Amino acid sequence: MNESSRIGIGYDIHRLVEGRKLVLGGVEIPFEKGLLGHSDSDVLTHAICDALLGAAGLGDIGTHFLDSDPRWAGASSLEFLARVVELITEKGYRVANVDATVIAERPKLVPYMQAIRKRLALVLQIEVDQINVKAKTNEGLESVGRGEAVGAQAVALLIVR
Ligand code: MG
Repeated sequence: MNESSRIGIGYDIHRLVEGRKLVLGGVEIPFEKGLLGHSDSDVLTHAICDALLGAAGLGDIGTHFLDSDPRWAGASSLEFLARVVELITEKGYRVANVDATVIAERPKLVPYMQAIRKRLALVLQIEVDQINVKAKTNEGLESVGRGEAVGAQAVALLIVR
């Protein structure tokens, strides 16, 4: 039997390196570096996938999308998110809201926030006001603060359809 609502948390971090595109929330952001990984390494979308899977009791992104699978080499993480939405729909839930934080020393993300929310809302099949994305620096501290990585955190609330 389904509970009426369920909450989930997600976290991710990827290395920031030269020669890669920077994609956050499915939006390509002009910057001299990008995130390293098997897919497009969209750290924000990964954190949101984990929050949704966690809320639904469906494990984590690594179990659903193996990073050794050649299908996902360079893949848009929005494909993962779309599949996660299918999985939670099959379990009888829909997304009530998502809140997320991207932690990056650079670049400034505020100019891209509305585009990111719109892109994610479309895939999540929700309205833009049901998803909030915040941007923070790490105050120069640790790997994120040194510009070596970008991190993301997310929470998601699911409700019965
Ligand atoms: Mg990841």
